[in-house]
Amino acid sequence: MNGIEAALEQRGVEKTGVDLHQFASELYPICRSITGNGTRETLKRIQRLIQLQIHEVKSGADVFDWTIPLEWNVREAYLNRADGTRILDYRDCNLQILNYSVPMRARVQLDELKKHLTTLPNHPNWIPYRTSYYAPEWGFCMKHKQMQDLEDDEYEVVIDTTLEPGFLTYGELYLRGQSTEEILISVHVCHPSLANDNLSGIVVACFLAGLLRGRRLRYSYRFVFVPGTIGAITWLAKNKENAQQIRHGLVLTCVGDANGFHYKKSRRGDAEIDRAAALALRSCGEPYEVLDFSPYGYDERQYCSPGFNLPVGCLMRSVWGTFPEYHTSADNLGFIHPEKLAGTLRLCAAICDVLEGNRTYLNKKPFGEPQLGKRGLYSGAGNEASAEAISARLWVLNYSDGRHSLLDIAERSALPFPAIHDAAELLRERDLLAAVDTN
Ligand code: ZN
Repeated sequence: MNGIEAALEQRGVEKTGVDLHQFASELYPICRSITGNGTRETLKRIQRLIQLQIHEVKSGADVFDWTIPLEWNVREAYLNRADGTRILDYRDCNLQILNYSVPMRARVQLDELKKHLTTLPNHPNWIPYRTSYYAPEWGFCMKHKQMQDLEDDEYEVVIDTTLEPGFLTYGELYLRGQSTEEILISVHVCHPSLANDNLSGIVVACFLAGLLRGRRLRYSYRFVFVPGTIGAITWLAKNKENAQQIRHGLVLTCVGDANGFHYKKSRRGDAEIDRAAALALRSCGEPYEVLDFSPYGYDERQYCSPGFNLPVGCLMRSVWGTFPEYHTSADNLGFIHPEKLAGTLRLCAAICDVLEGNRTYLNKKPFGEPQLGKRGLYSGAGNEASAEAISARLWVLNYSDGRHSLLDIAERSALPFPAIHDAAELLRERDLLAAVDTN
């Protein structure tokens, strides 16, 4: 099968893993949020790799039941002791400022300060990631150990942030295929220095777009890089009609850690993407689990809201919220691995190969088996076809009755999809199969 997975192998899987991790390292220090310059800068760096279109939607604009908030930017944020000693600076780690903190300049006593500090008592050396997008609060996040060591003193709080009319920024890449029907790949771009939750999905999506670019594609592909929740809702509000072109979709998140895969099915539960993902997982060589849809998680919630009910699933390694490093400073560049990022990219390529290659055929010689030997399609002298290849030919011939797709046949035969697809291509060349679907 001369597919997208094969294109990755040609590029070199190991080398690609290193490149994926390298790009994550480049994006890691940027202070992102649901709006602001960090997200803009991230999209500009993605634009250097793939031809992303960057869209800006004004603060105050209504998007379904939501409103685009004021744009948030940070000039500086730090905490000093009364004698001027700096004890915390958001430049050292951008998780240390409450994301969307309102500006604040004050001198406060320790008791008052503590009301605005978030720590992780169970992981005293990790810094938590907290946000307050829709409630006006100020605050810092710090190591629990550091908070315990704070002396009873007066502290100088400087949070020089701006919350002003501006924009929500998102990125979009469209690759035209033969059909106007689309495959959607969606990732969130709103988390600051967090590697697995955010950057892993971003870099895998970028490189998947790179593998697809310039190929002859059956489907059109739409990649969206959006702030979580509000960004996906914004995209849907701006593309309510276009969204009807989406035939298959994947949200990618937490795809770089050492765990096996988790695929969360679309709300429909039996969509072709759900079956294609399960099929590709069966052959991926890593442990995996398929989960039913639930209305919490990432942006699949928006794509699968009942008004849209799009066939969009969510691919993860560790499931959000279930690993201790989730939303903490321990979700860093050491928590994601080149070979795991590459493994996810390979799986995404294999899923796209299933969707691209899933067709339905009709056996043109359905009365008895056609004689494969005389066509050189059976094992024998001078014909070295593998047992798997011959088995795949028999499966494809038997079930190509115009009602079973190659995906159906791969599921039923327990053979890998590429073997079934290759068999169908060969049988079609030998005029034993006719395509019955149109697109
Ligand atoms: Zn998150």
